[in-house]
Amino acid sequence: MPRVDLSVFPPLRNEAEALGAKWDSINGIWYVPDGVDPAPFEKWFILPAPSFNIRSTNFSVAVRKQNCRWCSSLTDIATIVLSPGWEIWGTVDVIEETEGSEEELIMGWIQQRITAAVHYIKSISDTALSAVQSTVPEYKFGLINGHRFRKLFNHCRFCGSLQDKLAVPLNDEKTGRLAEGITLQDHDLPFDCSSGFQSDLLGYGFDPFLPQHR
Ligand SMILES: [Zn+2]
Repeated sequence: MPRVDLSVFPPLRNEAEALGAKWDSINGIWYVPDGVDPAPFEKWFILPAPSFNIRSTNFSVAVRKQNCRWCSSLTDIATIVLSPGWEIWGTVDVIEETEGSEEELIMGWIQQRITAAVHYIKSISDTALSAVQSTVPEYKFGLINGHRFRKLFNHCRFCGSLQDKLAVPLNDEKTGRLAEGITLQDHDLPFDCSSGFQSDLLGYGFDPFLPQHR
């Protein structure tokens, strides 16, 4: 049986270690060694990426230089921005419960009228990821120990460490324009990804004043 990677929240590392988990210091990840039954470690398994729930016919990449949180070097931070017209998979209708049949949720694509930055992406089409990485190669999958999914994060170009998302709003609060130091690249390519919950997306990503650049 090959090694199984685990996502262990740091305060629980003693428990994981006592069960036989090993620490891979190069990749910063716990794992069940080859030959050990992984069943007792199930609560720490990293879950497979869900299928896409966000799509768009085009997208943009906002890039800004920011100091690395660990080594302080200036490194590029990328953020994917979707223009109005992008869609999210969700409940479009509810057929009410009747005698003999249960409530039924009708799912479908729901068009959005806001500009949104998409964070915490758990899966992405190869086309879209290649386009982002052509500008910022360090925008790639990483794991925060304790989280159940690998997600796309910016990483420092110099020390490789995982970075927070952009430290400033995408748009200047006073002028409503794109904030200073941010460049925006448009890609006329289809975009597909899966990201958090709808409320996460709107809560973290809603930038109502971003200029409509299309
Ligand atoms: Zn660094």
